Amino acid sequence: MTPAIINPPRVRGACPGALVPMEVADGLLVRLRIPGGRLTGPMTAAICDLAERHGNGLVDLSQRANLQLRGVRPETLSPLTDALRALGLVNGDPTAERVRNVLCSPTCGLDPACAPVRPLAVALDTALSNSPDLWTALPAKFSFVLNGGGQAPLADAVGDIRFDALPDTALFRVAVGGDQASATPLGVCAADVVVDTALALSRAYLRLSASRYRRLAALVAAEGAAGLAAHLSLAPLSVDASLPSLHLNQVLGAQAGWVGLAFPFGGLSVQRLAQIAHMTPVLRLTPWRALLLEGNFSGDPVDIFQPLGFILAPDDPRLALSACSGRGACDSGLTDARRDALALAQVAPRLLARGHIHVSACTKGCAHPAPALVTLTARDSQAGNPVYDIGLLAAAGGTAQWRGVTPARATSLVAALEAVYTDRRRQDEDPTAFVTRLGGPAELAAQVEAHAA
Ligand code: SF4
Repeated sequence: MTPAIINPPRVRGACPGALVPMEVADGLLVRLRIPGGRLTGPMTAAICDLAERHGNGLVDLSQRANLQLRGVRPETLSPLTDALRALGLVNGDPTAERVRNVLCSPTCGLDPACAPVRPLAVALDTALSNSPDLWTALPAKFSFVLNGGGQAPLADAVGDIRFDALPDTALFRVAVGGDQASATPLGVCAADVVVDTALALSRAYLRLSASRYRRLAALVAAEGAAGLAAHLSLAPLSVDASLPSLHLNQVLGAQAGWVGLAFPFGGLSVQRLAQIAHMTPVLRLTPWRALLLEGNFSGDPVDIFQPLGFILAPDDPRLALSACSGRGACDSGLTDARRDALALAQVAPRLLARGHIHVSACTKGCAHPAPALVTLTARDSQAGNPVYDIGLLAAAGGTAQWRGVTPARATSLVAALEAVYTDRRRQDEDPTAFVTRLGGPAELAAQVEAHAA
């Protein structure tokens, strides 16, 4: 990162950074973009110390592998950003900071099958910091993905511009507007032109979009990709581009080059983070609500880290839950969504083995806007206590089969759904197919109701 003009921090409402934190119910949320997603133990310990002194002692890992400090007080924002700047973690200018949305494979350097994308990510981060023409021109969430492939590829990460390492070659597939499967491929490039290609594509998007399309995918959907490709000199995609996909069992627990630790909803206390910072020389931030710890540990990692509340088993039902930050952390939150979601994990292990349950503390559904197998949406009740609407195969605020139920009743209904699924599913039938076979959400809800009665 190249410091330019030293601007004081200011507060904004979305897409936070270190210099432009977001105001939420528990204070300011300060997002740190760590180039290459790699933090040494001492650097992590220093961040924890700052988070404890200036925040409320909670940190989040975002789905873009950024570290977020929560509950920062407005009066301590300036000393915090000064200290972060001294650690080299803050740009000089907030508009430079907002374009540094570069995600790279966390296993680079740990997994021999992963292409060396981390130096490219750091170089791209620096190049973006040094490209003032892009700072305010690119949309706030415009993002780059550098997928090195290997054991834990960034297959599910969505990016406006992405580079996917082609197995057994030194080449990258260049694609735009999506995850590995949905992005539109433009061609192939070598590693030494990845950074230049990313910048050229960003500028081509700005020229072709002329502010009409907020994201690259929208431009491609409306006008095709030929105009973008014409700005580049990429080789055609003539090699077999079948790319590996991600399985969490290849990330969590003891792996050949690291120990993978997940935590519910991607949030943990500063004390826990500081504890593991002192146990590892280097940790890697990932977009999977998980940290990868480098180094050797004397003893079984399960025995060491499970008692600390970390998740090491890829089939832990808590990994199939999502919940927004909820009451206390968001002004719109009506319920403690995470507490209520964890109660569901206790009663629905089979549903969560192959399905996704989402709990939203209001109708906005920030943490998971798409439909889930089961979605609980909080709303106010006439009695004054918040209640949930529950929908099957629905999104937050969408169609609901049960309306106005208490958190305890919601847990009972999900437990009854688990029991009906356990009793009546066919061999290898996933819960979504099960809902459909039993006549759809409304019909199944009636059967669950009968079971619960
Ligand atoms: S879904 Fe609602 S309550 Fe939850 S974080 Fe978003 S705005 Fe806040």
